Amino acid sequence: MHEIGHFIGGKHVAGTSGRTANVYNPATGEVQSTVALASVEEIRAAVENAKAAQPKWAATNPQRRARVFFKFVELLNTHMDELATMLSKEHGKTVEDSKGDVIRGLEVCEFVCGIPHLAKGEFTEGAGPAIDMYSIRQPVGIGAGITPFNFPGMIPMWMFAPAIACGNAFILKPSERDPSLPIRLAELMIEAGLPAGILNVVNGDKAAVDAILTDPDIGAISFVGSTPIARYVYGTAAANGKRAQCFGGAKNHMIIMPDADLDQAVNALMGAGYGSAGERCMAISVAVPVGEDTANRLVEKLIPKIESLRIGPYTDDKADMGPVITKDAYNRINGLIDRGVEEGAKLLVDGRGFKLQGYEDGYFVGGSLFDHVTADMDIYKAEIFGPVLSVVRAKNYEDALELPMKHEYGNGVAIYTRDGDAARDFASRVNIGMIGVNVPIPVPLAYHSFGGWKASSFGDLNQHGTDSIKFWTRTKTITARWPSGIKDGAEFVMPTMK
Ligand code: NAD
Repeated sequence: MHEIGHFIGGKHVAGTSGRTANVYNPATGEVQSTVALASVEEIRAAVENAKAAQPKWAATNPQRRARVFFKFVELLNTHMDELATMLSKEHGKTVEDSKGDVIRGLEVCEFVCGIPHLAKGEFTEGAGPAIDMYSIRQPVGIGAGITPFNFPGMIPMWMFAPAIACGNAFILKPSERDPSLPIRLAELMIEAGLPAGILNVVNGDKAAVDAILTDPDIGAISFVGSTPIARYVYGTAAANGKRAQCFGGAKNHMIIMPDADLDQAVNALMGAGYGSAGERCMAISVAVPVGEDTANRLVEKLIPKIESLRIGPYTDDKADMGPVITKDAYNRINGLIDRGVEEGAKLLVDGRGFKLQGYEDGYFVGGSLFDHVTADMDIYKAEIFGPVLSVVRAKNYEDALELPMKHEYGNGVAIYTRDGDAARDFASRVNIGMIGVNVPIPVPLAYHSFGGWKASSFGDLNQHGTDSIKFWTRTKTITARWPSGIKDGAEFVMPTMK
């Protein structure tokens, strides 16, 4: 069986730890390959390669660094079908959806083509007598990224593109569940002109993550995954003196006001709730209709659409969604549906036991809908991360607003309304990082930044946008006096501009 190794120093390297994990085809449940799980020594080898290559890369002028990304974007476009299919084969999502995954990463690569401008410093002439003051942004040195299974193209690129454009070397530790695409991306970066050793991909599990978190030469760590691990990575990175930004789980609500265009809201809920089998951190998993009449009309329109979802393997180009990632995820999601029934929520569409002919061992969960879910239920509190939508009925706008406000997570939220006053009030008051007004998945574009609040994010700088340039660089401020020969006496008091 094919074993996926690592990509270190510009070359494919076989794993040497003797530990591997299975990589499944989620549509069939078959093991399609294995992936090497790195040891501390293998992480060290990647760091040594990065350390040797980084100074020269940092000294490469920013226009030349940008040119690698211009070329890389071109290569991504040329190889789009191949990349999306490779991704779907391990993740299970439809090929069109996988293209979206790659394209959202590509867009950040386009953004960093502006690195000469983005990383420019600041200069003040005459900050004092014959004194100029300037601030420059220098790379952190070696950055690392630890990424989740659900966006194996987009999230690695969100991290390595700004880090590398800023002059850092990078160690990527992708999800062990779909490791092929990140390695292919590293190959294409080399083809685009990136020197060997600047982008290293090391596969692994907790052992590799712990080696990264404690490695003395890694200066900054970006993590995306579930909240318990995000919290752990943030704490451990900080305890080891590293800069860290760690993005966690989510429970995204959509408020549907009585004046909303209901058909538009229903279509939005279908795509945002069931697209990618609900395995998106910006998926909508809670619908909050305001008023009984809105709730009744919403549910009535949702049921037939959920029942007629087309579920299939990635090879079915008409499928709306595919399987979930693993048998564990399948069991967890079905278990949570059982739990919702026990808790007294009304299961209007039951996706348990869904079987696809010819794919009986695949991890398919049918689209599911719960009504009359309340804030004290486990299915409301937990991130289900599957094709399960919960309807929580709210009496009025204030009750609806209170739900996302009081929820542990704070990634994304949406409001559907024709009332600009309500929309503006909502966007201003809600304690969530990314807000959609009549937009169901408000993932900001590359030149804005992405990040949640509360238990969805630890650290203070977001992904992409100008935040990413700040995260992957350190500021140095220089105060210089020219001409140097000005004669004045010793000053014992704190210099001020008084
Ligand atoms: P996960 O937390 O299981 O894994 C993420 C990464 O952490 C992987 O690389 C994995 O190998 C590593 N890891 C797993 N267990 C670890 C441990 N005990 N110690 C150290 N490292 C460990 O997450 P996942 O299942 O791959 O991804 C789904 C989760 O990611 C969901 O919670 C989803 O909401 C979240 N997510 C968040 C965002 C965001 O931007 N906020 C984006 C995408 C996904």
